[in-house]
Amino acid sequence: MSDSLSDSDIVALDRRHVWHPYTQEYTAPEPLVASSGQGARIVLGDGRPLIDLVSSWWVNLHGHAHPEIVRAVAEQAARLEQVIFADFTHAPAARLAAGLAAILPGDLDRVFYSDNGSTAVEVALKVALQFFANRGEAGRTRLLAFEGGYHGDTVGAMSVGKSSGYFRAWENLLFPVNMLPYPATFLGDGEVESREAAAYEALERELTDDVAAVIIEPLIQGAAGMRMCRPEFLKGLAERVRAAGALLIFDEVMTGFGRTGDLFACLKAGVQPDMVCLSKGLTGGFLPMGATVVREPIHQAFLGQSLRQAFLHGHSYTANPLGCAAGLASLALLLDPDCTRRRAEIEAIHRDRLAALGGRWGFFRPRLAGTVAAVDLGDGGYDSADGPRIKRFFLERGFIMRPMGPVAYFLPPYCLEPADLHRAWDTLEAAVS
Ligand SMILES: *Cc1c(COP(=O)(O)O)cnc(C)c1O
Repeated sequence: MSDSLSDSDIVALDRRHVWHPYTQEYTAPEPLVASSGQGARIVLGDGRPLIDLVSSWWVNLHGHAHPEIVRAVAEQAARLEQVIFADFTHAPAARLAAGLAAILPGDLDRVFYSDNGSTAVEVALKVALQFFANRGEAGRTRLLAFEGGYHGDTVGAMSVGKSSGYFRAWENLLFPVNMLPYPATFLGDGEVESREAAAYEALERELTDDVAAVIIEPLIQGAAGMRMCRPEFLKGLAERVRAAGALLIFDEVMTGFGRTGDLFACLKAGVQPDMVCLSKGLTGGFLPMGATVVREPIHQAFLGQSLRQAFLHGHSYTANPLGCAAGLASLALLLDPDCTRRRAEIEAIHRDRLAALGGRWGFFRPRLAGTVAAVDLGDGGYDSADGPRIKRFFLERGFIMRPMGPVAYFLPPYCLEPADLHRAWDTLEAAVS
């Protein structure tokens, strides 16, 4: 049907009936009409290709319309598109859970499927609280999170992410969460250790015996503006949380599936969290799906004769077979040595280009973790005027780039060609000068 509509028809319908996320539609330019995708490119209705430097909001791993994922989804759709996931299971769900358990560290072996990153976080928070209640430690109810952290847009996720600053309209709805200082660092930072010491001090003060869980975006706070911390900090965090008897939740919704260099940030940091939240890259960017992966001993606390001891939580589309099939195909591509090579290549280019910016006017706090590179172009907030100007500059040169306030970052699909990545960095330098 869309093929018979012109781009301006589509925009007219959109303007009349569609409500866009995180957008002030009154002042925003008309939305672009995406008509197809291939590799790192989104193709507009008029045939103009745009290189996707943000992996379409951090979800795409292997490029758009990747033929192997297309085939896996099509075959699964023709076989079984959906089945109720209480009383039933199916091959893609079982195989994907086993595949995730195999690449996550230690006994992170139990997968609870949901629909997106926010629900993956809600599930982790609810599991943490019920875990202690089931064990007769109902006094452990407090949650700790980090300043600037973002964990999604549902009420629990907003509560642990409230210092991100996006949720003022719903403040009265949010439950209390104690916020810890986050020791953000960058290349050439000489003061990170004192910042980490201050964070540990606050953590030790807050880690009393009423804390159920601590949640963090490990290595990179994404929506806060790609604020990075050192792997060493996560090690010290894990030791302290464990010693206090609380659970450690890693929100790897963005950092999962190879973004930070290793397959997961927890592997890069050499830390075993108690729960890992996954979503964005889980299906290679094809279908909305989330997963909360839990250490097996936590799952054991939900087993018993009473239904009340079980986890009474679920979503209509839990473990949707199409999403699981996409996840399996995406995982196979991720584990291919060719993907590892491409990710290393992207990181090496990022590193060289960030080093070349060293000391140049207009670029502050350069930072890098795997395929994610970021630099501050000023000190404004999320609504800084620089962001839309830079976005437009990139768009005019054939790139999708979406600064967060004054923070410019690249988080490309792993198939991005080195020459295209170099052109993106050239464009950033030109934008600043
Ligand atoms: C995007 C994101 C979420 C929320 O995921 P949705 O799928 O948008 O609900 C949660 N945590 C982190 C770290 C994210 O980057």
